[in-house]
Amino acid sequence: MFKNCEELRHYIQEHGVEMIDFKMIDLSGRWRHLTIPAERFTEETLASGIGFDASNYGFAPLEKSDMVFIPDLTSAFTDPFCSVPTINMIGDVYVIGNPHTTFDQDPRVIAKAAEDYLHSTGIADEIRIGPEFEFFVFDHVSYETSPHKTGFRIDAKQADWNSGKDNDNLGFNVPHKGGYHIDIPFDDLYNLRSEICMLLEERGVKVKYHHHEVAGPGQVEIEVEFGNLREMADKTMLVKYIVRNAAFKAGKSATFMPKPLYGEAGNGLHVHMHLFKNNQPVFYEKGNYSDLSSTAMYFIGGILKHAPAISALANPSTNSYKRLVPGYEAPVNICFASSNRSAVIRIPGYAVKPEKKRFEYRAGDGTANPYLAYSAMLMAGIDGILNKIDPVEGGYGPYDVNLYNLPEEEKQKIKSLPSSLDEAITALENDYEFLLAGNVFPKRLLEIWAEQKRNEARAVSLIPNPAEFGMYYDL
Ligand code: GLN
Ligand code: MG
Ligand code: MG
Ligand code: MG
Repeated sequence: MFKNCEELRHYIQEHGVEMIDFKMIDLSGRWRHLTIPAERFTEETLASGIGFDASNYGFAPLEKSDMVFIPDLTSAFTDPFCSVPTINMIGDVYVIGNPHTTFDQDPRVIAKAAEDYLHSTGIADEIRIGPEFEFFVFDHVSYETSPHKTGFRIDAKQADWNSGKDNDNLGFNVPHKGGYHIDIPFDDLYNLRSEICMLLEERGVKVKYHHHEVAGPGQVEIEVEFGNLREMADKTMLVKYIVRNAAFKAGKSATFMPKPLYGEAGNGLHVHMHLFKNNQPVFYEKGNYSDLSSTAMYFIGGILKHAPAISALANPSTNSYKRLVPGYEAPVNICFASSNRSAVIRIPGYAVKPEKKRFEYRAGDGTANPYLAYSAMLMAGIDGILNKIDPVEGGYGPYDVNLYNLPEEEKQKIKSLPSSLDEAITALENDYEFLLAGNVFPKRLLEIWAEQKRNEARAVSLIPNPAEFGMYYDL
């Protein structure tokens, strides 16, 4: 938003901005924030940064945990939720020195390194990414009165689906799995979504469209226009921030959790991608399968080969694996297809123009740190191109059939995504070299990631599950 400090100072004066809020990305992919009075923001802030203790952000311990955060002026946006006029800024983490150097574990630094690596290979000079944001909106209650101390309540309609009971409300409810594109008045989140989209547009996130999603109660989606990798990771954080806060302001609670409701569709974060060189599309070649160039096919080959490892970053929660099951348009099998929603990679049939030719990676979900997940997808694709990994030879398809309905012996031939977080972490531990190329991912970061995620999986496995009461209580 601002090219230099001068422009920012001018805006602060003009609009009576009182606070500058720094949004810093932790390892898991949450924003944390630190605020300074606007009048304290000077050239010095951009040169020396703001000191903080990076060890609390989940990164691998270093001898010195003191780091500095240096805001990126171009990322600035006005905050629509704070009562005091506030400008927010994203930025990068630096290791203290003279001069400071970028911290190689900072997810935003990794995303930039992945883009630079793509450029250095000569394959393309940019990757354009288009994510689809699916989420649920539930009723918000105060933390103290929430039965599960979670701060949200699933309303009666939602709770009935969750428990599998029939709903005795005789009025119209959005039917089970019947919410796709449903119209008002049943689409009772339309106004909230429109408000969210206007807030996004005002902050430079162009919305492609928004709609109610498949799940009966409260599942919605916003798709945004394409952007470069790090730019889109920044925008992903912004979308989630606006969605959460707008829902909160409306007395609701939004979640991108992959599978909040048993028996209903989960929340994916599908990622469309394609490469460009000198502004020319690299993925198009008329006459091939789905008019995809060999470069595009190798990119797909790389992603499919590394899909189990990518899952550790793109599906990094125990809940992720409750979504990746048959029957809900979420992928299970590692293969590609055109227009087939049960495959990990789908080539949209409607994208026929050369500059639109692309594919979507359907496995990812909103519990991912977007900087790490998008970077991992790109790194797998580059590996596929450099090593000419042919997805057809690899037995990955194309499978232009509904994979859920395939006979069992056919299904056995297709590899599956990991079925648990533990499996995904093991896959990453056995297949991470492609991420280290060009020094994009530091090995230490992957180790700390694996350790943290194993701890999460272990913590969840120790908790008695409500379903266990139904199965074992009376045995
Ligand atoms: N919700 C589905 C998923 O989990 C996708 C449904 C769709 O976009 N048609 O990926
Ligand atoms: Mg969509
Ligand atoms: Mg969708
Ligand atoms: Mg999609």
